[in-house]
Amino acid sequence: MTESQAELRVVVIGAGPGGYPAAFLAAHKGAKVTLIDEAPEPGGVCLFRGCIPSKTLLHVASLMGEAEHAAEWGIRYEKPEIELDKLRDWKNKVIGRMARGLTGLAKQRKVRWVQGRARFGDAQHVLVKGKNGEERIDFDFAIVATGSRPTRPRGMDADSPRIMDSTAALELADIPETLLVVGGGYIGLELGSVYARLGSKVTVVELTTGLLPGADRDLIEPLARRLKEQFASILLNTKVTGLEVFDRGVNVQLVGPDVSAPDRLFEKVLVAVGRRPNTENLGLEQTRVELDDRGFIRTDIQRRTGEPSIFAIGDVAGEPMLAHKATHEARAAVEAIFGEPSAFDQRAIPAVVFTDPEIAWCGLTETEALNRGIPFEVAKFPWSALGRATTLGRNEGLTKLLLQPMTHRVLGVGIVGVGAGDLISEAALAIEMGAVADDLKHTIHPHPTLSEGIMEAAEVLYGQSPHYVARSR
Ligand code: FAD
Ligand code: NAD
Repeated sequence: MTESQAELRVVVIGAGPGGYPAAFLAAHKGAKVTLIDEAPEPGGVCLFRGCIPSKTLLHVASLMGEAEHAAEWGIRYEKPEIELDKLRDWKNKVIGRMARGLTGLAKQRKVRWVQGRARFGDAQHVLVKGKNGEERIDFDFAIVATGSRPTRPRGMDADSPRIMDSTAALELADIPETLLVVGGGYIGLELGSVYARLGSKVTVVELTTGLLPGADRDLIEPLARRLKEQFASILLNTKVTGLEVFDRGVNVQLVGPDVSAPDRLFEKVLVAVGRRPNTENLGLEQTRVELDDRGFIRTDIQRRTGEPSIFAIGDVAGEPMLAHKATHEARAAVEAIFGEPSAFDQRAIPAVVFTDPEIAWCGLTETEALNRGIPFEVAKFPWSALGRATTLGRNEGLTKLLLQPMTHRVLGVGIVGVGAGDLISEAALAIEMGAVADDLKHTIHPHPTLSEGIMEAAEVLYGQSPHYVARSR
């Protein structure tokens, strides 16, 4: 580090999984760092109204599912009694513990924490409006990590507790008897699963022809089968054409091939049709920062914007809107600020949908390969042949490798099954390391574990899987 680098003043706006790791790394490298957020503590959407509360509740849902499943093995539990206040407290305790941890870490790293709303005065200073008025903070470099917020299409934006976005749904005010989930994407399926396990009759309405558009259909199938048991109904290719809030519920008009009654009353509605970047009222017009046609901040491979002193990371800088993508961009941006030859390489960003079963993929998907005409070979290992899956009574899973023809370099991996979210990290490493199928085949995987699926999928490619004979490759 040079002397001038040691004096760098770095301002980070937004303290989510993009912003706080950026602030911490910049401080570690010797910069004088100010981390600004409107919230009283660092953590962002991910900690307060996203990843962490949803996964806390999904764990509870999965426990309830397991308990129900255990009846098949001769262990019968009573129908669970739900103490909603206690469950809410537990979720809030998890969040509180992690928020305190981040606050402590910021102090240890001598990151200055400023609570308030920031906007750019120009390309060298921000103005922060907090409880005690407005403060001017000058910087050499700024990182915008202001995240995103739920999209509320017109007609679904009524201001009523009966119409929820993900934030309201995670508050868990009550367990509605009937819940309509608009959107069969990440949030719709994850939070729909939570409410269904807690006792709501959940109907999912998805505009396109399948759940989780973009994900490979062979991965979706086992999930869709199971969700059909958990949800009251899943209506694909279906539109909400009207939505009216009454005292006794929300009257919803639906149009689609499987809609039996076009007018239906639901106690509550969860709108989960995507998120949009937070770029408004940021003073970006005082700078040369540019937005793309969807409102995301345009950046280069190092996450530098059109304004050389300003970087943008996380949800505000584009898809995929995932916490770990934000954190990785934080590294690229901070290293670039310190003049290091860093870049953000999008080839292997894992995606996980934390449903039951989970779906995870990384690198090239089969859908993308087909759409873009990328040649590939595929090797699939069904979990019906996986010992560990059998011990769990969960044989519906599948592990799939997409390989470059001839070289058999791993281009992508898709997994559906319990624990897929944890299993996908091996795939991310394989893709990052430029591994070939042979490397996976020759890596000893512990037995009996679900991770053997990756090794066996590689063996399937050569017709050598001990537990599965593929009909044709
Ligand atoms: P955010 O986490 O959105 O943080 C932005 C911060 O900026 C906020 O704290 C906000 O207060 C602050 N801010 C905004 N504007 C200003 C301003 N002008 N001045 C000061 N502060 C400002 N991703 C995953 O990878 N895994 C998951 O399991 C997962 N689950 C999710 C579940 C739900 C219900 C939701 C909604 C999202 C989930 N996500 C998940 C997505 C994940 O939360 C986001 O991708 C991630 O939080 C983005 O991080 P970020 O740092 O870009 O911004
Ligand atoms: P999404 O993009 O994942 O899904 C939205 C779904 O709504 C799509 O399937 C889309 O076709 C559908 N849709 C759009 N308009 C509709 C309409 N009018 N009627 C019916 N369906 C409609 O968006 P989301 O579920 O709101 O989640 C937002 C983002 O948050 C995700 O894309 C993801 O980046 C992030 N997230 C990640 C996780 C995770 O990593 N496990 C969990 C939750 C959220």
